[in-house]
Amino acid sequence: MRKSPLFIFFLLFLAFFQVGCENVSPEDLDDNAARDLRSARRPIGAAAREILSSQHFQSLQLEIQYMVGFEPTPGLVDNIREFLEELTNKPGGIDIYLTAIAPGRQESYSIADIRAIEDANRSSYNQGRKVGLYLLILDGYSAEDTGGSFTFGLVHRSNSIALFGRRMRENSDTVGRPSRSLLENTVTRHEIGHLMGLVNVGSDMVEPHEDPNHGGHCDNSSCLMYWAVETAGLLNVIDGGFIPPLDENCRNDIRANGGR
Ligand SMILES: [Zn+2]
Ligand SMILES: [Zn+2]
Repeated sequence: MRKSPLFIFFLLFLAFFQVGCENVSPEDLDDNAARDLRSARRPIGAAAREILSSQHFQSLQLEIQYMVGFEPTPGLVDNIREFLEELTNKPGGIDIYLTAIAPGRQESYSIADIRAIEDANRSSYNQGRKVGLYLLILDGYSAEDTGGSFTFGLVHRSNSIALFGRRMRENSDTVGRPSRSLLENTVTRHEIGHLMGLVNVGSDMVEPHEDPNHGGHCDNSSCLMYWAVETAGLLNVIDGGFIPPLDENCRNDIRANGGR
């Protein structure tokens, strides 16, 4: 039985509100640092305009951290830079860097686990006129997975993505499966799309196109923001061997919220 991704999506919102009052200990930080840290812990979609437009932030930094043994394929950084350059207005440039962290050695990770690891290791936050994003590649599965239903990646804060590296390795580079590069690039782009406010979560829709059965996703099965793209269903979606593009409706929402 397949667990509904709608449920997963709303579960993430719920999880945020349950722990949304976590303490930043601002007395340990100067005012700017405390504000930047707080802004990284807002709900999904809250940073969409900051990521897309040059209104508040001229440049963008994406920190990718992977647990040792789960380094992404070599093309990921360039592929994601191209995606961000195509969609965002960042005259100050886009900087992406990759570092390794110690393995967590857990079978699965809950949202609370993922946030704790991020908080202990992350260094890219909003700073001055630079918006900071964070992507964590874990060595285990999502704690939300059940039976035959699983998730490759998720967003859990306004500027934060988690990818389940073990799940991606197990479902790529073998007969009947896509290349790991295609899988990683597709899921990463999809999750960044959520941080950009797609669909209808932070970037208002120009034309209605939110899937009524899968909140926060596009109703076009050929679009990058189709719900199946972050789940086991992706293996059918990318059968053609290429990363699904954003459709016109998703592009229009991005443009209307300050992107390109
Ligand atoms: Zn999604
Ligand atoms: Zn779309």
